[in-house]
Amino acid sequence: MAVLKARSVLVTGSNRGIGLELVKQLVARSDRPEWIFAGCRDPEGPRAQELKQLTTNHKGVVIIPLDTSNTSSIKNAATRVTELLKGAGLNLLINNAGIVRPTVNLDSETAEDMAEVYRTNVIGPMEVSQAFLPFLKKASRESSEKGMSCSRAAIINVSSEAGSIKNIFAWSDGHIVSYRCSKAALNMLTRCQSLAYAEDKILCIALHPGWVQTDMGNLAKPAPLALDTSVQSILNTLACLSEKDTGKFVNWEGEALPW
Ligand code: NDP
Repeated sequence: MAVLKARSVLVTGSNRGIGLELVKQLVARSDRPEWIFAGCRDPEGPRAQELKQLTTNHKGVVIIPLDTSNTSSIKNAATRVTELLKGAGLNLLINNAGIVRPTVNLDSETAEDMAEVYRTNVIGPMEVSQAFLPFLKKASRESSEKGMSCSRAAIINVSSEAGSIKNIFAWSDGHIVSYRCSKAALNMLTRCQSLAYAEDKILCIALHPGWVQTDMGNLAKPAPLALDTSVQSILNTLACLSEKDTGKFVNWEGEALPW
């Protein structure tokens, strides 16, 4: 197992699916971060019960109320994390929260869905990254790590191969045009972040988690990749990423994907 030396991690959308599994596996690692901030838009709701249980059993795992499609919620989350970190930086931001609006085909795609999916999947990660940038910069400045890494300071945007313009993954299983466009835009956001934050030594990656067995993954038909397998590989990949990888689009195993 490659070692991840991040002291603090924030995962958005961590009450179910890939986000919840990331928190679960981070907690269980021998190199577990001291702080695991679990972003969740409805901490009191029925879908957050498993996450709540997890936080009561593990010190340093804290639920952060965070609706990534709401600017003031993002600002409040940043304030809460600052209080908890008491002046320390944030090493790793995983922009995982995302939505899909299934549509039969391009003709049935709507302006409302396009806007809602773009708000959550693109504007959300941009605003969350902006809000936490001062803490990422601080972590990077104060790190003893050489070069870029997830142990030093990184933004991981959970993207999708469905947004790859070259591969246009699983077209026959669903056109989901709003989702594809949003992930293509998220990929561009990642490239821009990698250029804008290069001087600050913040690693920026777009990561496709695989076609994974979650509520979203199982929407059209059962997904092939087990949730724990995907997340185990993702964490291993994160631990191995270095300066040469910033600005790339990779899959759960760290293999480069075409934009
Ligand atoms: P799920 O639908 O299982 O879970 C999505 C998570 O995102 C939930 O925790 C949900 O919270 C949260 N979320 C959605 N909108 C918001 C918001 N506005 N604010 C805060 N949280 C929000 O999806 P997955 O776990 O499968 O997907 C996670 C990421 O992986 C997504 O970005 C997705 O696009 C990507 N992905 C997934 C693939 C798959 O096969 N599963 C394939 C490729 C990419 P709530 O419970 O409140 O709705």
